[in-house]
Amino acid sequence: MIKLERPDKPSELTEEKEKELVQEFKDTERAVWRKDYITEPLFNMSHGKCCYCETVLGTQARPMNVEHFHCKEAYPNEVVTWDNLLPSCGQCNSNKGKHDTIKDGLIINPTIDNPKEYLYLKYFMIKSKDNQLGSIGRRTVELLDLNNRERLVNPRILIADTMRQKLENIHEKAVDLAGRQDGKQYNRTKIVNGIRDILRMAQPDAEYSAFMSTIILTDEDYLETRDILIAKELWTKEFEVMHNKASEIKLDTEIK
Ligand SMILES: [Zn+2]
Repeated sequence: MIKLERPDKPSELTEEKEKELVQEFKDTERAVWRKDYITEPLFNMSHGKCCYCETVLGTQARPMNVEHFHCKEAYPNEVVTWDNLLPSCGQCNSNKGKHDTIKDGLIINPTIDNPKEYLYLKYFMIKSKDNQLGSIGRRTVELLDLNNRERLVNPRILIADTMRQKLENIHEKAVDLAGRQDGKQYNRTKIVNGIRDILRMAQPDAEYSAFMSTIILTDEDYLETRDILIAKELWTKEFEVMHNKASEIKLDTEIK
């Protein structure tokens, strides 16, 4: 989970329109929030991913759900309140279910809270920094089942493994380049393109980006490759910007 910046309320969602849609929901229980002018900015806000588990959405198998932070059952007046709407996957939406974030206990709202203040990464698991029963982090992880092995941990491991294979290859070439004394830039293009691919996997729009940025930025091979590229003047402004963006969403790997 990463911090998300909520865009302005869609202009179509006037006060009058909100009232009309709330009434329609109360009368018919229809999904009145399913309007392009609502779903599109929500989808873009989270880079096309679930705001909780960071699974990529938008395919037929994984359509985007509009999640109501204050659940629609208890707070029907907020079914189209802009600040109450979040883009999520079907599984997180159903895990959260009728949980009342006011009465049953708060969970992380990624448009308000910075998830990295509450969560850290241990091995392939997203853990709460405060492990006390009833802490916001722990409730979030448990309620949304953010370490479900089949649904989330295994896919994270698979992507990390793909990244590792690429990185090992680039790192080897970078070390070779660093050891050469003839001034020729062996495999320069391969290394530069390779590190760009790795950094892309750690950007906010990448799948499981909180996890991937943490895995990449704490990888010794990555850090050494970066040092070599800096020394060889191959570490561009573009890479530095990408590295810094990844740093912003990276989770701690111990409780701080
Ligand atoms: Zn999800």
